[in-house]
Amino acid sequence: MAALSDSIQARLRELAETFIAELPSRMQDISDTARGTLSDGESTRDLHMLRHHTHKLAGSAATFGFHLVTSCAKRLEHVLDAVIEQGERPDEAQRHDIRMLVSELAEAARLKRTDSSPPAAKASVTASADGQAEIAELEELCDAGEPAESAPTVGRPKAEERRVVVLLLRSLEAGEALGERFAFYGFETTVLADPGDLIGSLCSGCHTALVMDVDFIERDPTVAEDLHALVSSSEGKLHVIYVSDRDDFSIRLLAVRTAGTAFFSSPLDVTRVIDAVDGVTSGGAGEPYHIMIVDDDAEQVSYYALLLQRAGMITSVVSEPRQLFAVLIESKPDLILMDMYMPGCSGPELATVIRQQEAFVGVPIVFLSVETDEDKQFEAVSRGGDGFLCKPIRPEHLVTAVANRVERTRSMRFFMERDSLTGLLNHTHLMENLSNEVQRAERVGRPLCFVMIDLDHFKRVNDTFGHLTGDRVLKTLARMLTERLRKTDVVGRYGGEEFGIVMFNVDVENATRIVNAIREDFAAIEHEAGERRFSVTLSGGIAAFPAHDGPGPISEAADRALYLAKEQGRNRVVSL
Ligand code: GH3
Ligand code: MG
Ligand code: MG
Repeated sequence: MAALSDSIQARLRELAETFIAELPSRMQDISDTARGTLSDGESTRDLHMLRHHTHKLAGSAATFGFHLVTSCAKRLEHVLDAVIEQGERPDEAQRHDIRMLVSELAEAARLKRTDSSPPAAKASVTASADGQAEIAELEELCDAGEPAESAPTVGRPKAEERRVVVLLLRSLEAGEALGERFAFYGFETTVLADPGDLIGSLCSGCHTALVMDVDFIERDPTVAEDLHALVSSSEGKLHVIYVSDRDDFSIRLLAVRTAGTAFFSSPLDVTRVIDAVDGVTSGGAGEPYHIMIVDDDAEQVSYYALLLQRAGMITSVVSEPRQLFAVLIESKPDLILMDMYMPGCSGPELATVIRQQEAFVGVPIVFLSVETDEDKQFEAVSRGGDGFLCKPIRPEHLVTAVANRVERTRSMRFFMERDSLTGLLNHTHLMENLSNEVQRAERVGRPLCFVMIDLDHFKRVNDTFGHLTGDRVLKTLARMLTERLRKTDVVGRYGGEEFGIVMFNVDVENATRIVNAIREDFAAIEHEAGERRFSVTLSGGIAAFPAHDGPGPISEAADRALYLAKEQGRNRVVSL
């Protein structure tokens, strides 16, 4: 990790250096094309070239915080746009404006250079008069000190990170009972009786969930103050989940105002509380965010890509709009960050083209541009865009804006694709996955197994202990399956009390071994229904590719295998 961020910082610094180093020659290009534009035999080619150079300079100057350069370039661009629009030679007033603005621009660029006497970019980047804040920020960003912490990170957590749950409920017994449930899922737990013990109980650097009764906050406002301080100094590692006997607007508002990330009222649905704790302590685990950047300016693309990578995201880059679809299909981004102006095709046009294809309707598109005209921003957003960010943008604002949108899109997709009781893929998406994975297995010549699992005599569980208890058993199995299988295995709820698993690159012997281990462990779990305890067994049927060729034959064979397992007495795994 350290090596990666070091190299990213070095690259960021390099980009700023390159920008500064190339500024004189870019200014020269602008002066030359301006001279061509203003000469007697002026060509429209020069005019368009001048507009192109100016626009690109406005964008990258904004990216690297050179405000004066950006504002001169933007004014020049406006004049040039007007000339292009009227389709004639620039009139006298416009010629005057162009001349003045080019020289102002040259001055702004030179000012930057003279101020930045040492050629080493690190010094030159800080020394300027305008855009100092952003440059200082870039500098900070480039600094090898403790940069990894200065921007929100949404990447994978380190495997060795501990996940701690601190429980502060109204009674010690209630805390201990809940703690036991958490311990079962591998969390470290600390049970407290007094909010005064809170500070001492927290481990710095661990992903910690504090499960606490709101009552403590209501009774003593100083507890709320302490909590705020703890949460804000934890760098996103401490999350508070409130529980309460009450469930009304004012108590929920109090919870939100006191740094609560989730709220559960009694009677507690323990599985949901565990899910919430799981979510906040995973440190953003799961797939890193994948962002596609569409911009014709290689320099700016690299800059923004590095900023996002530094926050743990994966980036793919498109600098030529025509390549967009190939990259889009291949990389399946969570979000597209798009430039407004590109040669041959505008950002809003491209957004519309993307939106017209069903497969990409849900991908958020956010424009990132120096455009400050609100009408143009509005037009961009109304044509399929989901947001507009203005350059220059502070690195942490960009990262947060992108991360928030991705999070929301992912959670919306989660609800569309997932079964609401278990959080597993629903039937449609499970089968879609099976079909995709079979194709992949075929393509790369690997085996694949499809497993069907069905709870034994589950009707009796419902009949004896009630439907709600039955639901809890289903959720327990769902959780166990997701925890015990690899991240690459796809687990879904086939329907009712039946589950399906797609195991890529696993042969029948291994799949049988894995499912048998789960079967034994699941049978050993004692479920609770009030005072009563009971256990439930499961049966499994497995079918493999290439023995069964195609998604249809595989799922039918797995179903037959499951039927055999039931027929042979249940609580067993059969493969075909
Ligand atoms: P077998 O061992 O042959 O599979 O017996 P079984 O009782 O498990 O099978 P059967 O198909 O007769 O009954 C399935 C039961 O699963 C009936 C149904 O009420 C229950 N079930 C299905 N979906 C849910 C659910 O979402 N929640 C609960 N609590 N029960 C469910
Ligand atoms: Mg059953
Ligand atoms: Mg069944």
